[in-house]
Amino acid sequence: MIAEVIIDSSVKTLNRIFDYEIPSDLEVKIGTRVFVPFGNKKELEEGIVVGIKEKSNYKVKEIASLQEEQIKEEYINLAKWMSERYFCNVADCLRLMLPPGRKSKNVLNRVKEKRVNFVTLAKDTDEILLDIESGKIKSEKQKNVLEFIINNDSATIQDIELFTDASSSIVKTLVKNGYLEINNVQVERNPFLHKSIVKSVDLKLTEEQKDAFNKIGDSGKYLLYGITGSGKTEIYLRLISKMLKQNKSSIMLVPEISLTPQTVDRFISRFGEEQIAVLHSKLSIGERFDQWNKIKSGEAKIIIGARSAIFAPAVNLGLIIIDEEHDESYQSEMMPRYDAREVAEYLVNDKNIPLVLGSATPDMNTFHKTETGEYELLTLSKRANNSNLPTVEIVDLRQELSNGNKSMISKKLHEEIEKNLEAKKQTILYLNRRGFSTFVICRDCGYTVKCKRCDITLTYHKYEHKLRCHYCGYEQDEVRVCPECHSENIRYFGTGTQKLEEEIKKLFPTASTIRMDVDTVSKKNSHEQILNKFKEENIDILIGTQMVVKGHHFPNVTLVGVIAADGSLNIGDFRANEKTFQILTQVAGRAGREKDEGKVIIQTYNPDNYAIEFSKLQDYNLFYETEIDIRKQLKYPPFCDIIVIDMSSKDMRELKKVSKEIHTYLKRRVIDEKFGLLLYSPVPSPIEKIKDRFRMRILIKCKYDERVNNLLKDSLSEFYKMKTASARMAVELNPNNML
Ligand code: ADP
Ligand code: ZN
Ligand code: ZN
Repeated sequence: MIAEVIIDSSVKTLNRIFDYEIPSDLEVKIGTRVFVPFGNKKELEEGIVVGIKEKSNYKVKEIASLQEEQIKEEYINLAKWMSERYFCNVADCLRLMLPPGRKSKNVLNRVKEKRVNFVTLAKDTDEILLDIESGKIKSEKQKNVLEFIINNDSATIQDIELFTDASSSIVKTLVKNGYLEINNVQVERNPFLHKSIVKSVDLKLTEEQKDAFNKIGDSGKYLLYGITGSGKTEIYLRLISKMLKQNKSSIMLVPEISLTPQTVDRFISRFGEEQIAVLHSKLSIGERFDQWNKIKSGEAKIIIGARSAIFAPAVNLGLIIIDEEHDESYQSEMMPRYDAREVAEYLVNDKNIPLVLGSATPDMNTFHKTETGEYELLTLSKRANNSNLPTVEIVDLRQELSNGNKSMISKKLHEEIEKNLEAKKQTILYLNRRGFSTFVICRDCGYTVKCKRCDITLTYHKYEHKLRCHYCGYEQDEVRVCPECHSENIRYFGTGTQKLEEEIKKLFPTASTIRMDVDTVSKKNSHEQILNKFKEENIDILIGTQMVVKGHHFPNVTLVGVIAADGSLNIGDFRANEKTFQILTQVAGRAGREKDEGKVIIQTYNPDNYAIEFSKLQDYNLFYETEIDIRKQLKYPPFCDIIVIDMSSKDMRELKKVSKEIHTYLKRRVIDEKFGLLLYSPVPSPIEKIKDRFRMRILIKCKYDERVNNLLKDSLSEFYKMKTASARMAVELNPNNML
C-alpha cells in the first residue's frame, strides 16, 4: 500500500503530496505522523499521512518509522480546506492541530515559579527559515531551537532545554545574533492550583434567556445578540451543562485578553475543575501539553481558550461557542491567516452540531447573516441583574475650542472627574487611538480629508508630506487650511496616553493615576497586573488605550471618559464606523455595572457622526440599519469581499518591479477571462516599512469564489517563479486589520 504524505514544511514548493511505500510491519492510517527519507537529506523528515492508495505512478521510498500520535481524519480535511482558503501550506495548518511541545521525548516540566524568562522570535519566521535554508545558520542545535520556537510561539528556557537538548548558552547566542528575544514575565500558574472556589448553581433564567436557550437546537448556527450584562454567559453555562449530560464536550472561545482567571472561575464554580481545560499563550508548554492531554483523553469536556483552541482535540464535540464574536483577535495575523469563526463554521457543518456566537455589538457580517437566514438571531435586550445602562453624553470639542479651552479635557468632563473624586469613585479615561496612522482634522469644524472614490479618511505620510488613500492610492498634498471653513487650526492627530497622563496630573494633582498602553504593558505581561492594581488599590483614574475596554468588571467605576472618539473614525478602513461603534459601546459598558449609576462622556469633533450618535443611544439596531445601507451602496463587505495582496522586500526597486509584474499578470487574466472584479493598482501599504522591509499592496474587490481563488493561487505561483532577492508575497481574504 502507498501512503500520501505531506512534509512538515512551510517551503512553498513542498506543499504537495509525496508517495511512500508502507512497510508491512507498520500500521499506518490517515493522520499518522511518520518519518520519511527525503531527497538526499541525511536526516529523516517528519510528515503526516493524508491519504492511502493501492499504487503509485512513481518509484517510491519506504516510510522509515512512525509516531503514536496522530491527527483525526476530519482534521486532515479541515487542514486541506484551510490551505485552499488561506493560501498556505497544508503543513502550516496541520501544525495548529498537533500537541504543544512537539519533537519532545519526555514531557514533565511544570512551571512552578512566578516569574519566568519567555523566549520568543525577534525576527519574522520567513526570514529565519531563509537563513536556515541558505546555510547562514549552521549549528544544528541553533536550528533545532529556532524550529522549536517557530512551532510553539514561545517557550521558557527550561522548555527549550528539555525539548531540544540545547543548553541555555545556545539561546543566548541566538539572542545576541538577533534571532530571539527574552522577556521576563509573570506566569500565571496552572489556573487551577491552590484555589478554593465557591460552588455556584444554575440561576433561574429570565424569560428572554429561557426563550433563547430553548431555541438552540442540536445543530444550526445562532447569533446571541445581548447587551452587556444581559446574561449571555449564563446561557453558555446552561448549554455546556446540557452537553455534559449527553457526554459531549464543548469548546468556548474568548478573546485572549478576556481570558482572565475571573472568566475561568465562573466555569469552575459551576462545573468543578476536573472537567475544564484552559488553553492560552501564557501557559508554559508543559502546561499546555497537560491541558491538551486532558482534552484528548476525554477527561476535560469543557475547553476554554483563545483563537487556536478551536483546534483542540475534543472528544465527541457537541457545541462551539464564540464569545465577543466581533473581536479582532479571532483572525490570525500570522501564517496561516485563518479566522477562527470560519473554522468553527466548517467544524459545525462537518459534525452537524450547533454554533453559538455571542456579542453586544455583533460584526456587521454576522448580523447580516441573520437576515439572509444563515444564522438564527436570539436577542437579550435587558440586563439580567436589573442594573441600568449608563447615561451617555456627547461633548462637542469644536465648541470647547471656540470657548477658549485648548486642553484635552472638556469643561464637562473636568467637572465629572472632580465629582467622582469627591465621591471616592473610580474613573476610566480612554484614548481612542489605533495603529500608527495619523490623520488630519480641522479643530474648528471637524472636517477630515477623505478620498472621493473610496470614502476613506486619507492618511498622512510624514516623509513625503502627502495625504494618501490606502485603498486606491489617490494622493494629495498636505492640508494647511481647512477647505470647508478656511480655518488654519489644522491638527495632525496622534496624541499619546503619556501626554494625557501628564495633563491629568496637572489638573488633578491629588488624584492617583495608573496608565495602561503598549509602553507600560510589555510584550506578554502585566495587562492583568495593571488592571488588578487599579481595582485592588482603588486607584482614582485609569488612563489607557484599547486594552482597558475588555475583560474586567470594576464595581467601583462610575465614570468613563472618551478623550476623542475620532481616533477610530479615521483609521483609513471601511470598517471605521463599525469599529467606533463597537469600541464606544464597550467602553460605555465599563461604567456602572452595579447599583451605582454609570456615566459616560464622549468627547468628539464629529458629534453628528452616526456611529457616535447611535452609541450615545446605545442602539445597535439603528447603527446596523444605517451602516448596512452604506455598505450596500459602496459595495463593501458583506456585499463583496476584499482581497489584499501584500508584498514586501528589503529593496524598494525590487518591490516596485515585483508588484508591477504581479499586477500586470492579474490585469491580463482579468481582462482575457472577463472576471467581474475590481483590481486596483499597487500602492504603498499604510505602514510603508516594517522591520526594514518596504511594503506594497494590491487590493481586489470581488465576490470571492473558486475562480477568484484559482486566479490568486496562480498569481502566487507566478510570484514563486520570479527570481527575487528578498521579496515576499501573501494573500489575505477580508483582513480585519487593513494596516
Ligand atoms: P453577559 O455575559 O451578557 O455580559 P452575564 O452572564 O455576565 O452577562 O450576566 C451579567 C450579570 O447578571 C452577572 O452578574 C450574572 O450573574 C447575572 N445574571 C445572569 N443571568 C441571571 C439570571 N437569570 N438571574 C439573575 N442574575 C443573572
Ligand atoms: Zn474647518
Ligand atoms: Zn481611494
